Order: sequence, then structure tokens, then C-alpha cells
Amino acid sequence: MNEEQRKQQAQIIPIDNNIERIKNTSSDEMISKYFQTSYEPQSPDIKKARKRRNEDVQIHYDFAIPEDVATIGKGKKFLIRTYGCQMNEHDTEVMAGILTEMGYEPTSDTNDADIILLNTCAIRENAENKVFGEIGHLKPLKLEKPDLIIGVCGCMSQEESVVDRILKKHQHIDLIFGTHNIHRLPQLVKEALFGKEMIVEVWSKEGDVIENLPKVRKGKIKAWVNIMYGCDKFCTYCIVPMTRGKERSRRPQDIIQEVRHLVAQGYQEVTLLGQNVNAYGKDFEDIEYGLGDLMNAIHKIDIPRVRFTTSHPRDFDDRLIEVLAQGGNLLDHIHLPVQSGSSEILKKMNRKYTREDYLELVRKIRKAIPNVTLTTDIIVGFPNETEEQFEETMTLMEEVGFEAAYTYIYSPREGTPAARKKDDVPESVKKQRLYRLNELVNKQSAESMKTYKGKTVKVLVEGESKKDPDVLAGYTEKNKLVNFKGPRSSIGKIVEVEITEAKTWSLDGVMVENTVEVN
Ligand code: SAM
Ligand code: SF4
Repeated sequence: MNEEQRKQQAQIIPIDNNIERIKNTSSDEMISKYFQTSYEPQSPDIKKARKRRNEDVQIHYDFAIPEDVATIGKGKKFLIRTYGCQMNEHDTEVMAGILTEMGYEPTSDTNDADIILLNTCAIRENAENKVFGEIGHLKPLKLEKPDLIIGVCGCMSQEESVVDRILKKHQHIDLIFGTHNIHRLPQLVKEALFGKEMIVEVWSKEGDVIENLPKVRKGKIKAWVNIMYGCDKFCTYCIVPMTRGKERSRRPQDIIQEVRHLVAQGYQEVTLLGQNVNAYGKDFEDIEYGLGDLMNAIHKIDIPRVRFTTSHPRDFDDRLIEVLAQGGNLLDHIHLPVQSGSSEILKKMNRKYTREDYLELVRKIRKAIPNVTLTTDIIVGFPNETEEQFEETMTLMEEVGFEAAYTYIYSPREGTPAARKKDDVPESVKKQRLYRLNELVNKQSAESMKTYKGKTVKVLVEGESKKDPDVLAGYTEKNKLVNFKGPRSSIGKIVEVEITEAKTWSLDGVMVENTVEVN
């Protein structure tokens, strides 16, 4: 990316004397300046979604740490606290990679850190509250260590109201940057260090694709691989299309190269990541290439396990089902968020499928992959959800036979259409519904676990169990957690384990001797 493009897109507003400036400027004035060229954080709407598809996405292969900051972190330490989804976890790996290339070393001790980044999540209100709690906790440390750099990044920093609140109430924050600005971390750290000013950089453009970013991955066994960014679905409850920008896919060759590189490093499993991976390739103008084609290409690569998340039912096409049915390294576990079992609620959510459409998709998937395990996400207490509509979610849960589900109470997000709706469902009723749903989820999970008793499963061994270092832990192909006694030498390998005990959310077992399958 050249300097001219940077100038056009970036918005760095250095504040010489932050407190003085805040005193002298009305907050509305300040906020409108910060966001004057940024993506308007207003209500998402479908017309805008269609329009933004036509915008140019540029792919940049020229990422490099500028020479003047290449050793800026020598002898210093960084800590990144991550909130939210896998996308954020992976962004943290990228930021860790950039900081490491700048000479910083990681630490898990806040007192030891020279730079602390909070990589935030905006999906529900309680996620945001946690971050504001942590911002408050860090204030005494900043007062004690004025040279400490504290940054807020991730989804919350894309929200105008959040930046407003930090500017007004948390002036000990040095740096705020958006999800499209991660690759600018070297320059931003430099600005924060030498200027000692509050830096706010939230880009107007909804994001390009930046390749060749360094990464420090969390482990050596499983790896995340982004295949696309952003979301154009505009579900009426969801903030993601605003915090992550428009859908844009990485080129297939760049993804395949990354997976090959991971194989060479000995990784055993990759999870292809995106907010809506089934829309992969829809933004390509020069080639017809979708998720099915990509999975087919990765199927041929010598990596034992391939997963993908998250799938939107609407774009789950026949080609993908046909490819997944080949099995091999394409695992027979599909996470397929349904959100609600009521067609009326699904319509209000703008999910663009009905209960019947979803069941038809499940039927097709089961026909092609008879052993498939399905898991899902469900929101209860969407505005004005009736008892009958909630019951439809309960019956769908049973009808599909989901083996696990992430369940949430609807959380209104400012700027989304659903948040403007009047809601006649009391919070106590929503909590009761969540409780009832969770009882059912637990029951179905426990039932599915019981079917494993006495069977032998393949487990990718990840390490020692958190509770007992003599016990190893790993996951089956269907993503079931297994705890078992076995040699430490099996860590990082796929072994066979005979299941002796089934619990609600995990299995216990014994390793079958001499079964190490992959070295
Ligand atoms: N793209 C995925 C999809 O369409 O299913 C989901 C991504 S979102 C990060 C993860 C989950 O958070 C969603 O599936 C939904 O269940 C939940 N979620 C999103 N917005 C929410 C809200 N406002 N209140 C409660 N749960 C929400
Ligand atoms: Fe949010 Fe997923 Fe809907 Fe996109 S598809 S708006 S990420 S829930």
C-alpha cells in the first residue's frame, strides 16, 4: 500500500495534550472529526450492503515492518488480552507476530508489560462491559508506569459510541485502532511511543485484504486460517457487518499456500475462518470459485484434519455438500447456526431462510454424509418472541438432533435494526427460556456422548488435561473432548482411544497401545 492510499484512508489524529484538548473540544465535535471519513456507524441496511459489494477490494502483498521500528521493542514485552470469537483469537496471533518482529517478547503478567492491547468483542453487551471493566482496572498501572502503552482494538473500536466513551472517560488509553488497521500496528505503536499522544485510527475504507502478515500461532498442532473477512448478511440483531466490514475473500492460491506451509511445519489440523464462510468467493469478479472448490483443493493436501467455521445456512450449496461427502481430511462435523426454530422470528432476523428451508438443508446434508454431527448457535428472547415461537426452537433442536449448541439471550446492539424494536418479553422470561433450552442442549449432548461408550475414536492429542497433568486431552473428528491416560509422546499426534466413560460434555478413555497414526 502506498503512502498516498494510506493518507486517503487513514485518520490519525494525534492529540498533543490529550486532557487539555478534551477540555477544549466538545465531545460531539471531536467524535465527528474522528469518524468523518470512517464507515458510518449507523443502522445496517440491505441496500447499503448491496452497494458496498461493488467497491474495489485491493489485495496487498507488500507488508513489511518499517526499518525505523524494526527493533523498537527490543528488551520490551507485550501482552494481548483477547475477547470474543476465533476471528479475534487469530487477529491476536497476527498482532503478536507483528510485535515479535518489532523485537517485543510476550508476557502474561500485566505488571511486566510495556504494551498491553485489549482485542475486543462487540457481539453482546456483557462482552463490552467486561472490556470497560478491564480498561478501568488498568488505570492505576498506567499511573504507576506512564511509559506503558495501552491500546484498544478489535470490534468495539469500530463503534463510535465506544470511542466516544473512551475519549470522555478513559484518557489513560494511548491507542485505539480498528479491525481494518491491524497491519498498521508498527506505525501506530511508534506514534504512541514517541508522540505520547492518544492515537485513534479507524479506517474509512471497509477493508482490503492484506497478505503476508507475520503470525505467532498459539500452538503447533491446530491453526486458524482466514479465508475471508467481513459479512454482508445484515442479520437484524448483529453488529458484525459494521465492525468487520464487507465480505471479501482471500485468493485461493494464497490460502492453499498458507495451508501447505502449515503442513510443512507439522500442523495436524486447520480451521478455515470467516464470519460467513459459505459466501467465500462470491466477491470474485474474474473466477467462479466457491467454498466447495476451496475445500476440494484442500482435501488433496496432506493435512489430517480440516474444519471450517462459521457456516450460514443460506449459502450452503450442493457443491459444498458433494465435496464434504468425500470425507478424508474433511471432517463430518458441521457447525450450522440456526438462531431460531420459528420462521416468523427468522424473517424478523433477516436470516433469509425458513424453518423448513433449514430442515431441508439438514436432510440433504444427512443424505450425503449419514454420520454427520451437527451443532448450532441459538438466540432466545429476540424482541417480542412469543412462547409458541420459542417452543418452535425447542422442537427444532430435537428434530435436527443437534449434539451441542451455543445459546445466547438476545442482546440489543446500538445501530442494529432489532435494537430499535420495542420488546414486550420480560428479562426474567428470557432467562427462563435460556434455562429450558440449555437443559435440552445438555440432555442431547449427554445422549450423543453415551453412544461412544465402548467405542474407539481417533483423538488429536493437544496436551495435558487442565485438571490433572497425568491425563492427556484432545478432540475427536466430531470435536468431542476426550480425556485419557497415555504417554506424553503422543501430544501433537492422532491416536486411538477406547471410551470408558461418557459425561455431558466430555469423554474419558484409555489409549489403545501402539496406535499413533500420524507423526
Ligand atoms: N456468522 C455466524 C452466523 O451467521 O451464524 C455467527 C457469528 S456471531 C460472531 C456468533 C453468534 O453470536 C451468532 O451465531 C449469534 O448466535 C450470536 N449473536 C450475534 N449477535 C447477537 C446478539 N445481538 N445477541 C445475542 N447473540 C448474538
Ligand atoms: Fe452476524 Fe453471522 Fe448474520 Fe453476519 S451472518 S450478520 S456475522 S449473525
